[in-house]
Amino acid sequence: MRPAGLAILGSTGSVGVSTLQVVSANPGEFPIVALTGYSNDALLYAQCEEHRPAWAVLVDEAAAERLERRVRAAGLPTRVDSGTQALQRVASLPEVGRVMAAIVGAAGLLPTLAAARAGKQVLLANKEALVMAGHLMMEAVRAGRGELVPIDSEHNAIFQCLPPPDGQRAQGVRRLILTASGGPFLDAPLESLAAVTPDQACAHPNWSMGRKISVDSATMMNKGLEVIEACWLFDVAPGDVDVMIHPQSIVHSMVEYEDGSVLAQMGCPDMRTPIAHALGWPRRVASGAPRLDLVASTDLSFRPADTTRFPCLALARRAAEAGGTAPAVLNAANEEAVAAFLDGRLAFTGIAAVVAGVMDAIGPEPVQSLEHVLDVDATAREVAAREIDAATRAETPA
Ligand code: NAD
Ligand code: MG
Repeated sequence: MRPAGLAILGSTGSVGVSTLQVVSANPGEFPIVALTGYSNDALLYAQCEEHRPAWAVLVDEAAAERLERRVRAAGLPTRVDSGTQALQRVASLPEVGRVMAAIVGAAGLLPTLAAARAGKQVLLANKEALVMAGHLMMEAVRAGRGELVPIDSEHNAIFQCLPPPDGQRAQGVRRLILTASGGPFLDAPLESLAAVTPDQACAHPNWSMGRKISVDSATMMNKGLEVIEACWLFDVAPGDVDVMIHPQSIVHSMVEYEDGSVLAQMGCPDMRTPIAHALGWPRRVASGAPRLDLVASTDLSFRPADTTRFPCLALARRAAEAGGTAPAVLNAANEEAVAAFLDGRLAFTGIAAVVAGVMDAIGPEPVQSLEHVLDVDATAREVAAREIDAATRAETPA
């Protein structure tokens, strides 16, 4: 039996906050042992007041000091720690049975791996960790006798449409179908994309999310990362995973079987549903999400994804097919390009161009070790920085 204690890595983010809402909707069910964030001490303090965890971690030291002063003054039972090592430490505490991995990007890799190695049930939102180091992550889950339960709504949907995992590959599956909303620029004129602003890219039509994943949704790199995520989670090849645009975001994904059956999971686009499913699994618990109004949802439409509009989807498929270090290169280049776009240093259409340039410069190699993955990640970021500089110079009139 795993202990009931829950650690939430990234509790101050969008998925983290939704997780705490589900926890509050089920009083006494999911005791919180640890909460972590990067630097938002005001929000983490409010979360500590409400949930009284044993540990709170902020990566930023000055913010952690501010948090510690307030926690002490209020007499809360919470000990405060700082730095990246502390994330790995709280993810491995013996009183923690499950870890919500909701840090964004490559920063989530080491703490998520630590949780897997320590045999925790890992509720995985941090898809980038699996994209970068899927082989190492799956190996860590097996070696630690842990478990991965997907939080990403598409993968959680597929998990619900497959038979319960028993260590065997599901039988008779013809393909997995990931749905994608298409984001805010699904029908925008192609020539308008170069000029879109970060706020326009982050204004998702159906989902409210952190800024990095919102940009990934607008480029559809998010769906590409999800194809790679699905291959690791469900032990399938990239060719077995199709992507379908479904602008209403009601069908969260599907599994097609040999006999022609297609099983879908539906619900309102609200992350509290997959979070509650994973927290309660195999039971069902309250989520606080609105109920789906089937009469109002009659217009469910599907269309193929267009890689001229969404070149990032094709780049991710290329990385998925190449395997080895290619997905880590893709992910690092994308993180740098998205950060540059959000800072106003790169055009929206520059994101795919930078990722393609970095992938052309760094060929795939078989993954040797975690250090190898981290080296490749660092090199890809350096090459991406040069590509971003070159793109900026090309755009700036002399
Ligand atoms: P977010 O930006 O809202 O939150 C990220 C969290 O990570 C915050 O708590 C932040 O403080 C922390 N963080 C950021 N940088 C860090 C660093 N260097 N070290 C330690 N902590 C750091 O992001 P989000 O939208 O909640 O997404 C989190 C993860 O979940 C991502 O991997 C995303 O792809 C995935 N996901 C999110 C959604 C969603 O609806 N938001 C849906 C599916 C999957
Ligand atoms: Mg998703």
